[in-house]
Amino acid sequence: MDAADLQDVLDSVRDFIRTEVVPLEETIDAEDAVPERIVAQCKEMGLYGFTIPEQYGGLGLTVSEEVRLAFELGWTTPALRSLFGTNNGIAGHVLMEGGTEEQKREWLPKLASGEVTASFGLTEADAGSDPSSLTTRAVRDGDEWVLNGSKRYITNSVVADVIMVFARTNPDAPGTRGISTFLVPKDTPGLSIGPKDHKMGQFGAWTADVYLDDVRVPAANLVGGEDGVDTGFVTAAKCLAHGRLHIAAVCVGMAARLVEETVEFARTREQGGKPIARFQLVQGLVADSVTDHRAGRGLVLEAARNFDAGTDTVAGPATAKYFCSEMVGRVADRAVQVHGGAGYMRGVAVERFYRDARLFRIYEGTSQIQQVIIARDALGKAARG
Ligand SMILES: Cc1cc2nc3c(=O)[nH]c(=O)nc-3n(C[C@H](O)[C@H](O)[C@H](O)COP(=O)(O)OP(=O)(O)OC[C@H]3O[C@@H](n4cnc5c(N)ncnc54)[C@H](O)[C@@H]3O)c2cc1C
Repeated sequence: MDAADLQDVLDSVRDFIRTEVVPLEETIDAEDAVPERIVAQCKEMGLYGFTIPEQYGGLGLTVSEEVRLAFELGWTTPALRSLFGTNNGIAGHVLMEGGTEEQKREWLPKLASGEVTASFGLTEADAGSDPSSLTTRAVRDGDEWVLNGSKRYITNSVVADVIMVFARTNPDAPGTRGISTFLVPKDTPGLSIGPKDHKMGQFGAWTADVYLDDVRVPAANLVGGEDGVDTGFVTAAKCLAHGRLHIAAVCVGMAARLVEETVEFARTREQGGKPIARFQLVQGLVADSVTDHRAGRGLVLEAARNFDAGTDTVAGPATAKYFCSEMVGRVADRAVQVHGGAGYMRGVAVERFYRDARLFRIYEGTSQIQQVIIARDALGKAARG
């Protein structure tokens, strides 16, 4: 996208978020739902398909462009981003990375328009940080595959029209090998969704378990066709690497909002007849958060450039996700501190963001898993000389 068009997209998203969504944040948190009117506006603005290539109806943003959009999205409740996060991210990328041309043509335009919401079903009750231990099975039966198993914490599964289900197709292949991905439409007999999870935060973004009980899908629903057999783990790893940069950028956006909330409160709250912003210990908290935000922003932009250039598609996203998810946790914590007792009260934005921010250190790979990826890369390079 040329620079002027990108700026138009960023400006209109910024305006939409600040004028339409921010005033609804408390309602979204309290009612655990994003109003339909906002969902419809997101579809109209192309937000369900900003990473999907233009030939399939999306905006076709590069990762460097996408992170700038995610900085804007991070300004408000993460429930907004979650509406279309799976279409643009982990679920849509399954098709962009591993789908056949026919699968892309059939599904990507519907994902881009928001006609269809997709979920990414990798995690299981006993397979989280180590998804290679997943036990959901897919067995070939003539022209069909039969899937059995269950998935846990699947974002958007409650509203999804299609779920990208990762299942073991070769029980003899250990670990990361022998896993394939299947497009499973929501109305397939045997597929059911559990009750909505009751989470700590990010209300308005929904997760639930997914159950597969003798679910039959045509062979054509194997992602990547016959070539896709046993390649699911590689596809998942690529989707997650891209997703980590997106999450890191959302954290930067949330940190920017938290800095603004912190500064505004410090300027207006008085103790002893003067604004608390005059106290140098409060200034220290502000300075640390401003610095954290800027460091995260710089890291994300650099990691995105390297990702687009193809020079660092693994460790860079992990460093960005690790630093920025931890960073926004620190910034949220300081924001609560600067707000004093008010920061602990429902109805105050920083209290909500404090709860919302906690998830970023857990999903799409915990901080410990990012550390493992980063260290493995550094140590591997050193060993190879
Ligand atoms: C709100 C939410 C939405 C989610 N959405 C999705 C989704 O859409 N699709 C999907 O497939 N999954 C989704 N997940 C799952 C998420 O990716 C996992 O929860 C996450 O990867 C951690 O797995 P786990 O919960 O099983 O924790 P565990 O893997 O059991 O981890 C527990 C602890 O052990 C640590 N640990 C584990 N292994 C290691 C290791 N090798 N080295 C060091 N420390 C380790 C972890 O860091 C953590 O501190 C979602 C989760 C949540 C909470």
